Amino acid sequence: MAKEKAVKEIEDLPGIGETTAAKLRSSNIDSLEKIAVLSPHELSEVSGISVENAKKAIQVARESTTIEYETGESFYEKRKNIGKISTGSKDLNEMIGGGVETNGITEAYGKFSSGKTQLGFQLAVNVQLPVNKGGLEGNVLFIDTEGTFRPERIKSISDAVNLDSNKVLENIIYVRAKSTEQQILTLERADKLIQEKNIKLIIIDSLTSLFRSEFIGRGALGERQQKLNQHVHRLQTLADKYSLAVYVTNQVMDNPGILFGDPTTPIGGNVLAHAATTRLYLRKSKEERRIIKLVDSPYMPEGECVIKITNNGVKD
Ligand code: ATP
Ligand code: MG
Repeated sequence: MAKEKAVKEIEDLPGIGETTAAKLRSSNIDSLEKIAVLSPHELSEVSGISVENAKKAIQVARESTTIEYETGESFYEKRKNIGKISTGSKDLNEMIGGGVETNGITEAYGKFSSGKTQLGFQLAVNVQLPVNKGGLEGNVLFIDTEGTFRPERIKSISDAVNLDSNKVLENIIYVRAKSTEQQILTLERADKLIQEKNIKLIIIDSLTSLFRSEFIGRGALGERQQKLNQHVHRLQTLADKYSLAVYVTNQVMDNPGILFGDPTTPIGGNVLAHAATTRLYLRKSKEERRIIKLVDSPYMPEGECVIKITNNGVKD
């Protein structure tokens, strides 16, 4: 019965040594699952091993990958444990099903001054509240790519919900990322920090700005989308693994292809459209009012509500 070494990594496959594994990884083929769905010709082409050996490796990869089935009922039980962070506005909470959820990615997109960053500040404070007050008693990893984090704002918002603002600031782990590499590496190395600091919310403000400024021109678009795709995939993995919430902001551009209606479209194209669990579109209205549209949610209907951005944070 005793089998040889269990196959867990791609280099455990027959005929695939370290060099071949490295080659595969550089083509983004980094798991047994990915090899299991390749054809022998495809694998042979990217790895340089013979078609015959590729066949064997794929066979073993298929035998070594399992698919976990679960019933709708047990999945439903798990969903009951999903945490929700209050946004500060009852209307907005209701619209999105109770608050910003753990185990998923919430994206806010909109023009400048539409309130994306302010909503992030509010969530960074509220996640620290006790559960019965709309929080998760958890801490925050705040990745700032635009240099717009303002501790003063955190202080005012904390005071308004009766939290000790110095403690609140202590519980926000702040990273100023100046390149996509720094942004990506912060997440790659986040496991230990998340566990040690009880991180329950990761904020990236903004998710796309560095990608947008570093990858310019048509030729770079494919690479940008591929990197962004891996990055958001990593976010979702962390959200699931540690039952934490992810809030990302995103810029918009005017899409000249849209002739009727609102031409404002979020950056990131399909990659983000598919990755974000909940998408919010923020627009300025009169004075402190902001219109928030729920564009995409796995279980709530599309809707719109109005919030206020005040010195004390987000209000109805
Ligand atoms: P950008 O795309 O430029 O990052 P954004 O969507 O992140 O924009 P925010 O920074 O969230 O925009 O919103 C800025 C707006 O928030 C300001 O224009 C102002 O109306 C409001 N605001 C900021 N600070 C305060 C405050 N202390 N009191 C009241 N309103 C404030
Ligand atoms: Mg901002």
